[in-house]
Amino acid sequence: MSAPRQLFVTTALPYANGKFHVGHIMEYIQADIWVRFQRMQGHHVNFVGADDTHGAPIMIAAEKAGQTPQAFVSEIAAGRKPYLDGFHISFDNWHSTDAPENHELARQIYRNLKANDLIETRTIEQFFDPAKNMFLPDRYIKGECPKCHAKDQYGDNCEVCGSVYAPTDLIKPYSALSGVTPELKHSEHFFFKLSDPRCVEFLEAWTQRVDTNGKLVLQAEVANKIKEWFSVRTNADGSTSEGLGDWDISRDAPYFGIEIPDAPGKYFYVWLDAPVGYLASLKNWFEKGGPKAQHGDIRSFEEYMAAADTEQYHFIGKDIVTFHTLFWPAMLKFSGRKTPDNVFVHGFLTVNNGEKMSKSRGTGLDPLKYLSLGMNPEWLRYYLAAKLSARNEDIDFNADDFMARVNSDLIGKYVNIASRAAGFLTKRFGGQLIHTFDPQGAVMLHDIRAAADGIAALYETREFGKATREIMLLADKVNAYVDQNKPWDLAKDTANNEALHQVCSVLINTFAALTRYLAPMLPALAQAVEQFTGSNMREWNLVHHDVQAIQPYQHLMQRVTPEQLESLFELADQSESSQAAINSVAIELPGGEAIAPTIGIDDFAKIDLRIAKIVNCEVVEGSTKLLRLTLDVGEGKTRNVFSGIASAYKPEELIGQLTVMVANLAPRKMKFGVSEGMVLAASHADEKAQPGIHILTPWPGAQPGMRIH
Ligand SMILES: [Zn+2]
Repeated sequence: MSAPRQLFVTTALPYANGKFHVGHIMEYIQADIWVRFQRMQGHHVNFVGADDTHGAPIMIAAEKAGQTPQAFVSEIAAGRKPYLDGFHISFDNWHSTDAPENHELARQIYRNLKANDLIETRTIEQFFDPAKNMFLPDRYIKGECPKCHAKDQYGDNCEVCGSVYAPTDLIKPYSALSGVTPELKHSEHFFFKLSDPRCVEFLEAWTQRVDTNGKLVLQAEVANKIKEWFSVRTNADGSTSEGLGDWDISRDAPYFGIEIPDAPGKYFYVWLDAPVGYLASLKNWFEKGGPKAQHGDIRSFEEYMAAADTEQYHFIGKDIVTFHTLFWPAMLKFSGRKTPDNVFVHGFLTVNNGEKMSKSRGTGLDPLKYLSLGMNPEWLRYYLAAKLSARNEDIDFNADDFMARVNSDLIGKYVNIASRAAGFLTKRFGGQLIHTFDPQGAVMLHDIRAAADGIAALYETREFGKATREIMLLADKVNAYVDQNKPWDLAKDTANNEALHQVCSVLINTFAALTRYLAPMLPALAQAVEQFTGSNMREWNLVHHDVQAIQPYQHLMQRVTPEQLESLFELADQSESSQAAINSVAIELPGGEAIAPTIGIDDFAKIDLRIAKIVNCEVVEGSTKLLRLTLDVGEGKTRNVFSGIASAYKPEELIGQLTVMVANLAPRKMKFGVSEGMVLAASHADEKAQPGIHILTPWPGAQPGMRIH
């Protein structure tokens, strides 16, 4: 037997500014299936994840929440477990990029790169928000992508075409914090010299490398895309140049991150230390003694990472390819470390042909709601596996397709094999199986076991969809055998006892083989089958072993119902019990008045709330209360609205800001003119007891004219 492979596997680190969405869960399921398959082969896997905690967006979100960034991210981290446990994701370790290991490793890597003459400082012009008095982080500058001209793209990379660029490359930039056009100011920044011929030569070779069969190691579509980045680049001034650009790796204080050695007030850009978090989590896992306890591995983290046979794999989404195929391998290579063996890129998940599930947006299928409805996590694992391939392509969660695949394939074709045979074995043969089979059954069982290597090859290459189709074809053969041999007919006459015993024994053995094939996707079900058959389902090669006896059959899996799917996609705001709870404590509400009677969603839908930009604002002569606002709600014309907020705001404070207005309120004729709508503002019911008027402002990213749902 050959030595077990040493596999270090990661998923992309989720940004710690929000809960997981189903896009994260899909990636974890994909990686987890691969990892569980490798473990079934007897290989040694260290599978780690971590929260990506740094950067301005988290700093800003923490400030808004009135927390320190550390407290903010630890609260997010505490919420990860129900998702990971709930969907049976078998990470060995979950860590944080703000942990000491990461600070230390990021600084070490930086010092190594600097010693290698690959870091330089340059004074650059950077966007500064005059309204907020700070340099704007990339994610808070938006504008048009310089490559594909998609609107409203972030300052660091385009979610539509995947290009990476400087914020100053954006066309028509604006501050997502204040909406104002940012100003350029000087600042000293640190650059990783990716344009250095050593880096270019290495990366061209690394991204286009082929295996012993002459096949590209990276996914072909990924390698081909990367090729383009080596040829042409658009500069800030609109000119183009050949080859890779240098990478700006520093940010100015205030910033939540890792301070750059010997450079006070300068921090590593979050994307510098985020992938280092893979190593930090693994180091933490070694320091806890995990690899020793699991595989008897007594090496240190450093020895493991330096070993020739350690293989390193990263599962990522297609939006972060650049970071993982250019910056990260170059950081590792030129700091004297081993480079990843491969990066496995997947597409986005859409739900019911709906919205894209990217890192920063995402709704549709709420993973915790899925679990709270009692929906089996392995339905989703199986369904996603059935849709996944080795290619970087988007997949869609479709509710009807989901129900068909779970109920017709998984339960109808596979689970039912066990239920059809188990009853007879238990009642008639004391649960004991025999080992001499009818010729047809023996051939079929042999064929099913002989498929093990082919299915293993599909798992190895992440062709999970093909693997499920292969397994379901085998299940079809078994069901045809059941229909031909009709155990329910055989059972009618005790003269057929031996035939019945043979057929049912064959069925349980085929069921055990299929269970091992499905075990990476369905770990909990495989565990239940272990109880049922008394056979180990965690070792792939045991597929050739016969089951000796079974326990009485218990339901292995329920069917998904249309009602469950309906509830899953029902709007979240119809929770009557929470509304009742609010009503019952209405007396001392901070607003000073009780919550109004409940309305239906239809009533709410009648009110058309829109994001409005205040393009002008002036005092109203003859009124101390009113301001005259000129609002843009994206109609191609402006509206005139009077608002009783003069006591709280000066006109110049409001010009250029975004707010919320009722856009379909009937125009009202007032003493000073016609008001064409109403701006939303909060105040206490008793203005004298608690003065103050607070107009509403949307979070960054909203655009004039967007409807509020
Ligand atoms: Zn683009």
